[in-house]
Amino acid sequence: MSASKQLEVNQQRLWDSIMAMAEVGPGLEGGSCRLALTDEDRDGRDLFVKWCREAGCTISIDDMGNIFARREGTDNTLPPIVAGSHLDTQPHGGKFDGIYGVLCALEVIRTLNDFDVQTTAPTEIVVWTNEEGSRFSPAMISSGVYAGLFEKPYAWSRTDNNGLTLLDELKRINYLGDEACGEHQIGALLEAHIEQGPILEGKEKTIGIVVGAQGVRWYDVTVKGRDSHAGSTPMPGRRDALVASGEMIGILQTLALDHAPDGVCTVGEMHVKPNSRNTIPGEVFFTIDVRHPDGDVLDSMAGQLLRNCAACADRHGVEVDIKEIWHNPPVQFDPGCIGAVSEAVEVLGYSRMEIVSGAGHDACQICRVAPTSMIFVPCAGGLSHNEHESAEPKDLEAGGNVLLHAMLKLAGSSSLDRSSS
Ligand SMILES: [Zn+2]
Repeated sequence: MSASKQLEVNQQRLWDSIMAMAEVGPGLEGGSCRLALTDEDRDGRDLFVKWCREAGCTISIDDMGNIFARREGTDNTLPPIVAGSHLDTQPHGGKFDGIYGVLCALEVIRTLNDFDVQTTAPTEIVVWTNEEGSRFSPAMISSGVYAGLFEKPYAWSRTDNNGLTLLDELKRINYLGDEACGEHQIGALLEAHIEQGPILEGKEKTIGIVVGAQGVRWYDVTVKGRDSHAGSTPMPGRRDALVASGEMIGILQTLALDHAPDGVCTVGEMHVKPNSRNTIPGEVFFTIDVRHPDGDVLDSMAGQLLRNCAACADRHGVEVDIKEIWHNPPVQFDPGCIGAVSEAVEVLGYSRMEIVSGAGHDACQICRVAPTSMIFVPCAGGLSHNEHESAEPKDLEAGGNVLLHAMLKLAGSSSLDRSSS
């Protein structure tokens, strides 16, 4: 057994920290309500900063309110190895979404302190502002500014339902920092998170080695035929927009099944005009949501979707207009970071599987500018964005140990290298 294998996080301390944070802005049913940049969010941040200072970290804050807590390494010219997530919650948020990733990183720092481990590169904990997007839209806005996906003035000018701006609220709670967002160095970023889905639990795996996040394309589709009498219009020569749309749904279903299990395609909304029992429908609007983890495959699915729906429209003598309204390309995490996580899981002996994130995370933004990957642990029933969200202490501990050893691998540690060789 190598020396580094004996290094383990403290399950009870991690659990107690998560429970203590849940008490800041408690929900009515056991979860939390800490909407971004509210007094509750400020109190949660203050508690986190206090804990980090007690662990010997120095704090820096950027002008999107992102917090970095730093533990020095032996070579502080190296860019830091960073881990973290978000502390804001949904209005009926759980205790774990985001919070786990932040406090898991804090637990790693505390463990390094306990065992007096010196890393070569510095290690840091990050808290990203307004990940949830429930107070200020869009979600993941501050990691998005960091990654250059949003302009800062745009982000600062976002308003909540009462017309308060993100910038004013940052100032009000005293978290408008002086570092320019995006300039803080990140050598690599790891984000631990509950899965928020049922896959790990269903397959009885403790650790999800997250290799990326799937890509999404959204379309608005309008099919135009001709209204006419349901009784006196013979079947040949009808231009029935709904019959054509129905066939298009079948085409989309086949397309997704041809790309199973990774490809998914959903028509979730449909409006029929004139929506009258005895009139042949002259116009139909429907939506398409198509997803796949591989960008080339997603592009090819998109191409087939457009061609096949156009051919279908021709057969039915109707017109189809398909507008793409959103495209979020898939994300592939960094092989080096995935490798560090895989190696840690291997050494620790947890059951594991590779997994693609179905949801968006700060890591999915940062991976565009720094080496990044994620670690998933199971949550009960896959339930999240719900006050009853829950996870097992032993699984949370396992994720903590994986994060610890992956960070050590990335940051390097001469003392451990010597004792384990
Ligand atoms: Zn989250």
